[in-house]
Amino acid sequence: MAEVRVRFAPSPTGALHIGGIRTALYNYLFAKKYSGKFILRIEDTDKTREVEWAEDYIFESLKWLGIAPDEGVEEGGPFGPYRQSERSTIYRKYAQQLIEEGQAYYAFDLPEELVTMRENLKTAKASSLNYNAISRTQMKNSLTLSADEVKARINSGEPYVIRIKIPLKEEIRFQDMVRGWVVVQSSTLDDKVLIKSDGLPTYHLANIVDDHLMDISHVIRGEEWLPSAPLHVLLYKFLGWSDTMPEFAHLPLILKPDGNGKLSKRDAEKHGFPIFPIDWQEENGNRVSGFREAGYFAEAFLNFLALLGWNPGGENEIFSISEMIDLFSIEKINKGGAKFDIQKAEWFNGQYLRSKSNEELGNSLVDIASQKGIELNPNLAVEIATLLKDRVTFSNELYSKGLFFFKGPTTFNEDIVSKQWTKEATDILSTYSDALSEGDYQAEEEFKLCLKEIVEARGVKIGKIMPALRLALTGGADGPDLMGTMKIIGPRESGLRIKKAIEQLVDRIID
Ligand code: GLU
Repeated sequence: MAEVRVRFAPSPTGALHIGGIRTALYNYLFAKKYSGKFILRIEDTDKTREVEWAEDYIFESLKWLGIAPDEGVEEGGPFGPYRQSERSTIYRKYAQQLIEEGQAYYAFDLPEELVTMRENLKTAKASSLNYNAISRTQMKNSLTLSADEVKARINSGEPYVIRIKIPLKEEIRFQDMVRGWVVVQSSTLDDKVLIKSDGLPTYHLANIVDDHLMDISHVIRGEEWLPSAPLHVLLYKFLGWSDTMPEFAHLPLILKPDGNGKLSKRDAEKHGFPIFPIDWQEENGNRVSGFREAGYFAEAFLNFLALLGWNPGGENEIFSISEMIDLFSIEKINKGGAKFDIQKAEWFNGQYLRSKSNEELGNSLVDIASQKGIELNPNLAVEIATLLKDRVTFSNELYSKGLFFFKGPTTFNEDIVSKQWTKEATDILSTYSDALSEGDYQAEEEFKLCLKEIVEARGVKIGKIMPALRLALTGGADGPDLMGTMKIIGPRESGLRIKKAIEQLVDRIID
């Protein structure tokens, strides 16, 4: 294979949503697999839709995920500049070339004339309402006006666009690496604008010219671009670049959780899950939560995303980025849409969390606690992390689900109080708390042995009073191993908490 050169070409018109990140990831994996280049090109020719901070957002998102471009706006490279607005002088000559060769034309129609055209076509029940091989014959363009008039209009400064002249009847065929042969009749296409009245190219022209000039070998992008691909294939042909046209791979859509249509920001809002990589600030000032701020590890998010539409086969689902690079192949990309499943994303995060060392998790806990104003002993943090690691999905839950390690309970689980706070249990706990205040218990086994002796002397099974003990120590109904918990809290504090609970719940004791 010739050198693989792929590009991710977002437009800075809003937040990059996970579909865009997945496109970037697949391009990156493909480039790395074939020792090629991954290029980041910013397609900012539509100034009316641009959002000022969207470009930085793209850079920051990719940095968080470690999807590092080999060439791009920040990195530079031999094919730059990589921001289309800095290349605006490049495109015009190609549009001019197409005009000279009869494959494009000037059009002078005013916006209201285009509206009238559509209304007339509607009234005539035409099969298409587009500016195309049929309707253009009725419009004001260089195909219907005399050469002199065209010149005069241009010289007088009248605004115009340049449109591609789509052939009336031509079969356009290309092979998509995901979908196989795609065959489209040119009669279904419209004469898309290539150069706008502001003189800037549209996406279609700029995209093709840049892919050509940047030696792009493969275009890997979302399915929403599939309808534009026949136009792009025609442009390659008209510009004389068919021989070096990149190969296309159109990725499946990411669907709503129920599979009913494309995943949208509204779904994210409705279900309360993130669909943006990092926090996004909307133009009205609203902040929409991102995966990073929601507590996802970059590796877990990438792993989740990679499998939304690609399946390397086999049972394993956990892949490091270098394993993904090894395994990646476009043939294994699914044709059908991939259902977004936030539980799966959480599952991945939990798996990655559990694969981290206790020390690493302990360090994160120290950081989180210190943000909350609690200075945590690092060794203690490691012990807490060790105990909680199997019970949490996100690092910050090491703190939120472990609050009882730092502070005794003030409220108590009502269900346990009403069912387990028996006379027998409180008597046992009272004796146990005395023993805890006196003894110097260190290991889990010692805490257990002491309790065992007390319950056995009363002919009760240890399991029977565990819910009441947990209630007294933590206020809750479930949590990590209790002896381990007491070891961290310490014998004195454990004894005190039991005493306090008995005092506080003295009226609630049942027979
Ligand atoms: N600028 C287009 C976008 O925003 C790029 C589409 C393509 O990759 O050709 O997605």
